[in-house]
Amino acid sequence: MLTQIEGIHHITSMARDALATDRFITDTLGLRRVKKTVNFDAPDVYHLYYANGSGQPGTVMTYFPFPTIVAGKRGAGEVGTTVYSVPKGSLDYWAKHLEAQGVTGLSRESRFGEDRLLFAGVNGDGCALNEVEGDAREPWNGAKVDDDAAIRGFHSASLVLRDRGGTEALLSFMGYTPLGEENGVLRMVRKDGNGANVIDLETRPDAPVARQGAGSVHHIAFAVANDEAQIAVREELVAQGFQITPVIDRDYFHSIYFRAPGGVLFEIATNEPGFASDEDMAHLGEALKLPKQHAHLRERLEASLPRIGN
Ligand code: ZN
Repeated sequence: MLTQIEGIHHITSMARDALATDRFITDTLGLRRVKKTVNFDAPDVYHLYYANGSGQPGTVMTYFPFPTIVAGKRGAGEVGTTVYSVPKGSLDYWAKHLEAQGVTGLSRESRFGEDRLLFAGVNGDGCALNEVEGDAREPWNGAKVDDDAAIRGFHSASLVLRDRGGTEALLSFMGYTPLGEENGVLRMVRKDGNGANVIDLETRPDAPVARQGAGSVHHIAFAVANDEAQIAVREELVAQGFQITPVIDRDYFHSIYFRAPGGVLFEIATNEPGFASDEDMAHLGEALKLPKQHAHLRERLEASLPRIGN
């Protein structure tokens, strides 16, 4: 069994409109934009990163905004709901705040004894705010959301699967333990993780296979401390028979990717070097940062990408 996985590192979704997405995540949800760069594999579109004030792994939501992408179709084999942690007692504030901002799909429910508020993201993304007592992670306090209610980071991600068996076994191997089952949802927890410790597995045998598009989660990344931990994890997963990519340099972390048995794309990402590696902590996410392989495209990209932030 692996001991190196610390919880969720980041979640990456696809969107249509970069500006609308940026406004929603910063103004409506109150996260900090911590990096404005391009998709390293498709540099004509942005890769936008949002997180708490320090860009801590476990708080990082990222988007690929493709202007012409069609809407995704919900189904099995994807992250169905991205769930943020908010302080206990804050959901009344959030319900009013989201409603005032025109957010749709609001509904309250209880899961494993915790209250949550479901809502639709800017492209109909499945999102929720989940009350957590005493989440010690520092929120971003530069936003238009009350400090007492601000998002602390991820609470969990909910994976929708036709058959959860293979993914359950994989998560167990990755160091997660089952907490219990409720209404067809198995909750797996990484004890002593980075705060983003929970993965829910929702079994829906009859669900159609999800079709990725705007509003879909592209992949979920799990955190490891450093390169050494990542290489050890890679070797162990290869020994288990998984097809894993080589280590890829994403500038702010190093990544490996593989497909989980239920169809969800998993990434393992290092906590190092982090988002302050190429700009000051005080100015994260302001300037367009390009990886060296795309630095020669700067003039063209600055002319073609929509202006965000400055
Ligand atoms: Zn990623």
